[in-house]
Amino acid sequence: MNESDFSLFIQSLDFAARRHSGQRRKDAAASPYINHPIEVARVLWEEGDVRDPVLLAAAILHDTVEDTETTDAELRNLFGSQVAGVVAEVTDDKRLPKDERKRLQVEHAPHLSLRARQLKTADLICNVHGFIDSPPAKWPLSRQRGYLDWAEQVFGGCCGSNPALDSLFRQTLSVVREALLRRSDPQ
Ligand code: ZN
Repeated sequence: MNESDFSLFIQSLDFAARRHSGQRRKDAAASPYINHPIEVARVLWEEGDVRDPVLLAAAILHDTVEDTETTDAELRNLFGSQVAGVVAEVTDDKRLPKDERKRLQVEHAPHLSLRARQLKTADLICNVHGFIDSPPAKWPLSRQRGYLDWAEQVFGGCCGSNPALDSLFRQTLSVVREALLRRSDPQ
């Protein structure tokens, strides 16, 4: 990473932290939302050996358009069309009902760019792994298992861009499935 790559990374981190400030995750500890995009970028960097500054910045920004007031035009202006383009590829249309959005993610996965596939895979790894240490507080096990099945379908469409990430996804999915089998819903 050279100076301008690092500059892009730190600017995207600063921007995302401000936009997500006040947002919390769905785990029992209600952790700060920004922990999630940071973890996705870390997985790309450490596990996927990704050194592409566009992809790392897009990872940090990946939920800003979907979950905050940020617009695509704003990202284009501040971070360039490549970064904004990758974010746009992994952004759901929030006007659609939740089930429809999930169905479309499965349908769109095989058509994503190489960057977006890696980002999607790292995002799924983090979300699936989250069921172990920080499960969504209000989700019954059946919903958690349903999420794993859905994640596997999306992954089936977007795998093939980064073998290390692909094998980490498969491994994480099987560990989490096992763990959920041993768990039962609180009475
Ligand atoms: Zn995400």
